[in-house]
Amino acid sequence: MTGTIKEALVARALEEGFSKVGICAPDAVPGTAARLAAFVEAGRHGQMGWMAERMEWRGNAAALWPEARSVIMLAEVYTPEADPLAVLAQPERGAISVYAQGKDYHDLVKRRLKRLGRWLIDQAGGEIKVFVDTAPVMEKPLAQAAGLGWQGKHTNLLSRDLGNWFFLGAIFTTLDLPKDAAEVSHCGSCTACLDACPTRAFPAPYQLDARRCISYLTIEHKGPVEPELRALMGNRIYGCDDCLAVCPWNKFAQAAREIGYQPRVGAPELAELATLDDAGFRARFAGSPIKRIGRDRFVRNVLYAIGNSGLPRLQAVAEPLRDDADPSVADAARWAVARLSAQDGGG
Ligand code: SF4
Ligand code: SF4
Repeated sequence: MTGTIKEALVARALEEGFSKVGICAPDAVPGTAARLAAFVEAGRHGQMGWMAERMEWRGNAAALWPEARSVIMLAEVYTPEADPLAVLAQPERGAISVYAQGKDYHDLVKRRLKRLGRWLIDQAGGEIKVFVDTAPVMEKPLAQAAGLGWQGKHTNLLSRDLGNWFFLGAIFTTLDLPKDAAEVSHCGSCTACLDACPTRAFPAPYQLDARRCISYLTIEHKGPVEPELRALMGNRIYGCDDCLAVCPWNKFAQAAREIGYQPRVGAPELAELATLDDAGFRARFAGSPIKRIGRDRFVRNVLYAIGNSGLPRLQAVAEPLRDDADPSVADAARWAVARLSAQDGGG
């Protein structure tokens, strides 16, 4: 009976727009808690204080909801149509990560998970909880346990049939569904992602020091970024795709099925982004995940990119922001002006 339900569930998930489905037990990754504790003890979570809270939940999906008997892991593809790294050669523009180019994936994936979950309850009963990038759930180890793919040397999930451009969603259910076999690493001797990282954020394969990662620095980090690191950020103003883009398994990537992930923001001119005030920022990025970081952190990032641009004409854009009410923006503007004027003077 449950085998039939599982087959129907997989078919239904694919119909809904997911690209891959796997199922594991909530306690399928017992080593997660220890790995998370080591990561936090080493301070590699940076300012993401929530990672150090409720670790007994986060490292152990079974404790999160003791009644759950199965975790259904789903992959939703957002593969870019063009090379996401091409914009790095255009210093007058800001590079915005592929995943943030379209509508907010939290909303899109969650809506789909809820529809699928309701369908499952109608078909087989039980109760469900759905999660998308939610603090208490360690989605990547669960997805590997469910056979969706493996956590590569860049620590993201990838698979032999999808590459690595996909979001993860989870449905916890009280139904005891048949489980899938866990996937193992197929990275082999490849080190492309480790070699591509502009800030050397991987202390070792399969380990990330978030404090050096541009994704973390542009999205999560509050206050000024260390000058040594901001100089390495180039024109990346929201996230970073370098380690994902170079993975050779992307030759098997599938096209995105969700129209909402089509690029809406592109690679805007830094000069225009630097002038955004709060209202302008909110209007410009309504419905986008970018809106979550707020104008101040975003303009701080834009000013780092201006400082890294090597374009003296952008100095005039940064100058008025040296007196900005936000101390991080003012600091970034002073840094950008000093860098560009040193270059302009041949220094
Ligand atoms: S996202 Fe960018 S900075 Fe972060 S680990 Fe990957 S390549 Fe390095
Ligand atoms: S780039 Fe190479 S090492 Fe990195 S995740 Fe992909 S296959 Fe693994």
